[in-house]
Amino acid sequence: MPASLTDTRSAELYRRALELLPGGVNSPVRAMRAIGRDPIFIERGAGAELYDVDGNRFIDYVCSWGPLIHGHAHPDVLEATVAAARRGSSFGAPTAAEAELAAEVARRMDSVEMLRMTCSGTEATMTALRLARAVTGRERIVKFAGAYHGHVDGLLAQAGSGLATAGLPSSPGVPASAAAATTVVPWNDPDALLAATGGAAANTRSGEHETGAGGGDIAAIVLEPLPANMGVVPAENGFLELVRERADACGALLVFDEVITGFRVSRGGMQELSGVVPDLTIMGKVIGGGLPAGAVGGRSELMRMLAPAGEVYQAGTLSGNPLAVAAGLASLALLDDDAYARLDQCTDRLAQGLREAAAQMGRPIQVASAPGLLTVFFSESPVSDLAGAQACDSQAYGAWCRSLLSRGVYAPPSQFEAWFPSLAHTPEQIDTTIAAAASSFEEIA
Ligand SMILES: *Cc1c(COP(=O)(O)O)cnc(C)c1O
Repeated sequence: MPASLTDTRSAELYRRALELLPGGVNSPVRAMRAIGRDPIFIERGAGAELYDVDGNRFIDYVCSWGPLIHGHAHPDVLEATVAAARRGSSFGAPTAAEAELAAEVARRMDSVEMLRMTCSGTEATMTALRLARAVTGRERIVKFAGAYHGHVDGLLAQAGSGLATAGLPSSPGVPASAAAATTVVPWNDPDALLAATGGAAANTRSGEHETGAGGGDIAAIVLEPLPANMGVVPAENGFLELVRERADACGALLVFDEVITGFRVSRGGMQELSGVVPDLTIMGKVIGGGLPAGAVGGRSELMRMLAPAGEVYQAGTLSGNPLAVAAGLASLALLDDDAYARLDQCTDRLAQGLREAAAQMGRPIQVASAPGLLTVFFSESPVSDLAGAQACDSQAYGAWCRSLLSRGVYAPPSQFEAWFPSLAHTPEQIDTTIAAAASSFEEIA
């Protein structure tokens, strides 16, 4: 980057933010440390584009890390949000739209009959785990290495996203008791899953974890059915089915974290695409249309255990917030079959173009994609788990990413995060991105 980078308005704002916010940001990956530069302060977004405080324009593939499936400030979403704000921002009392949103989710996901809303995906995860523990009367949670489920104490072990980006195995401050109730299993490793859930195949890494007779102490197996927080790493053939089978064999609940995949990879998320049905689903991101929202959904018999229908306590001052619900409903209303077909095409065009650009420049990469998300792994072989993701050339990815920024393309500043093409990205913008990517591959060669 030019030496003048330190004279930018972003640099000035960052210096001030560093005095007042830990690391200058309110969420770690925003700091861009993993790609070896300082953060860019944003002034506004429009459609697929971001404008920074220095007047630079970028084609945005972060899109707020997933919520903005329609891009920035989509007129329908904006209008619905503003109209809701005019009626008052929060009441601490029920509104009609909350049941409408629950009904829309239930129409899209067969496994969901009832919904409890929260303000974030993290809170939704906390709620799902508490509910699973209450339902089963057990404590142990099985999760997969490289999966991120929010910054919940017990699930930070080998978590993806910002922890993977920073190379952290977990976090100080997590009570040993919380970590001890979690068993981490390598993704796409059937033997390890069997060992951890009391099936056969004990001679694997996770066989070290004692999980009680036959996995009978497991409350829930929680997973991203399409992991996207170590980069996009799809389940191999039969793995999701095996996870379902093991949950049943243990009498544990199967919890799908569809915070990223929900309403993005298809109308009904990854559970619709895979045909594997969870007991509980964690939602976030798209469901709030860019405003703070998350949710847990499932069969009524389970959901009715939440207070005040049941005894499992869960609450939130701003839960089901009218602005977030309005933005979420407006976003979902735009997501019909045609929208998913377009998002799929847009993602394919980008994935294919990036593959070809890399091939032309002799850079070995792997592009893993699903409708509405992809990852460019700097790797010679396909990535199937966290170890594979960690073996990527993150330094080269960082250099490529910095180069892309200088060409007006804002890609996720981490090898371990997904790109989020949106419905606002035009074919022209995708082609511009591919051309920039080719030049950047050349620049770092
Ligand atoms: C983002 C994310 C979360 C956490 O959601 P927040 O709203 O950031 O708390 C949980 N699970 C997955 C899969 C996510 O990508």
